[in-house]
Amino acid sequence: MLPISCPTTGNRVLASLDAVRIINHPDHIAAHVTCPACGGEHVRRTGRALHRARQDAALEVAVRRAETPVPA
Ligand SMILES: [Zn+2]
Repeated sequence: MLPISCPTTGNRVLASLDAVRIINHPDHIAAHVTCPACGGEHVRRTGRALHRARQDAALEVAVRRAETPVPA
């Protein structure tokens, strides 16, 4: 069983491993899960390149915040 968050119902549900398909892409890995709650297919992307891109984006936001003057 794999716990997932259903974006349709907003609930955490357990999906059977039979409902999970892992697809390798050049820059990330995608887990396609057939949702037991809503019957739809939800895609979760993961992988080192995607993780690094998210970290870079978060760092950029933090630097921008740090550069913005705050009133005393
Ligand atoms: Zn769902």
